[in-house]
Amino acid sequence: MVTVSEAVDLLLRGAHLPDREGLADIAIAGERIVAIDTAGRPARRTIDLGGRLVTPGLVESHIHLDKALLTDRISATAGTLDEAIRLTGEAKQAFTADDIQARARRVLDLAVRAGTTAMRTHVEVDPLVGLTGMEAMLPLREEYAPALDLQICAFAQEGIVQAPGTEGLLRRALTMGADLIGGCPYNDRDGVEHIRIVFALATAFGVDADFHVDFADEPEHLHVREIAAQTVRAGWQGRVAVGHVTELAAVPGFRQDEIIAEIAAAGLGVICLPATDLYLMGRKDDGNTRRGLTPVRRLLQAGVPVALASNNIRNPFTPVGTADLAHMAFLAAVAAHMGTPADLRALLAAITLHPARLLRLPDYGLAVGCRADLVVWDCARPEDAVATLPPRTLVVKRGRVTIEARHEVTETWRA
Ligand SMILES: [Zn+2]
Repeated sequence: MVTVSEAVDLLLRGAHLPDREGLADIAIAGERIVAIDTAGRPARRTIDLGGRLVTPGLVESHIHLDKALLTDRISATAGTLDEAIRLTGEAKQAFTADDIQARARRVLDLAVRAGTTAMRTHVEVDPLVGLTGMEAMLPLREEYAPALDLQICAFAQEGIVQAPGTEGLLRRALTMGADLIGGCPYNDRDGVEHIRIVFALATAFGVDADFHVDFADEPEHLHVREIAAQTVRAGWQGRVAVGHVTELAAVPGFRQDEIIAEIAAAGLGVICLPATDLYLMGRKDDGNTRRGLTPVRRLLQAGVPVALASNNIRNPFTPVGTADLAHMAFLAAVAAHMGTPADLRALLAAITLHPARLLRLPDYGLAVGCRADLVVWDCARPEDAVATLPPRTLVVKRGRVTIEARHEVTETWRA
């Protein structure tokens, strides 16, 4: 414990916090928050925030670093999911570890500057790319550790049953040090068997699982029900996340409630990927074009943790992207019809508290005893973090300042 007379390492003075009236100081010693109050105390470094908003660090729960930034080498023409998988599969065969690392570093740098302090990345492991993605990503986990906790998910994008050899490669990826395993039953000949193999590996290695699932306009798979059932059977409640889940939006409300009850009972977390899902879904609609997002509001109301994540950064799956999670919350506000102040605060939680729960980050949050992973926004109200996409002026990782940004604007036209 730190006493008042003892100098703390870092004092962030005059902060607005999401769940607190008025201003407070955040005192940090070592890598932890030791006080949130107005007592005033000596510190080795004091930074006056001038009433700016402080939140816990942003948590990117779903991103593909290995296939980011491909739009300068692949030209999509149809803009469909099938084309994105085909073109990226072709490009992937020419990937080298150096190439993957160079592109991944560019995205990691963007994310860190935007206040991201933890991230889960999917790394494709299959007969096309082999273990090159794993070899590229494992050293980056160490390289970026001072700024960000990186979870590496060994991911079967090309299927398992329909891509012989993948199961063995996934096993090797987990042995090499992947943090968890990722499945993609919508892109396999036998989705149920695919899910069974992923759970067999998850339980054998004692790791969490994360699925790309039900990624279509019509409810043609609804594999999430099988995932919920296998989660309960394996006793893996709280350790499984599902991304996309757009088919859930395509069934009537009463059916959504039934399936959401299964999701909640299995302790699944849902990851909504607005940039990709809005881009790829609803393309076949001729009028009444659907937006193709999982029903975020209904899931949140049922108590399911819902994260918003980036998924793809400038490739055929999603041709735009900045690795700034605030953009995903901004996009979801529009696309999921969540614009009231309470809605916007809920979306801020979907890039901080909810993904932290899905990634099971220990000691995460804005409370005494939590690790000091913090981001300072150039606004005072939490809803404005989503509504106005303010610059991040300061980022703290484990109590140490990692990013300081000054945004200067000179309006020379006024002179
Ligand atoms: Zn993805």
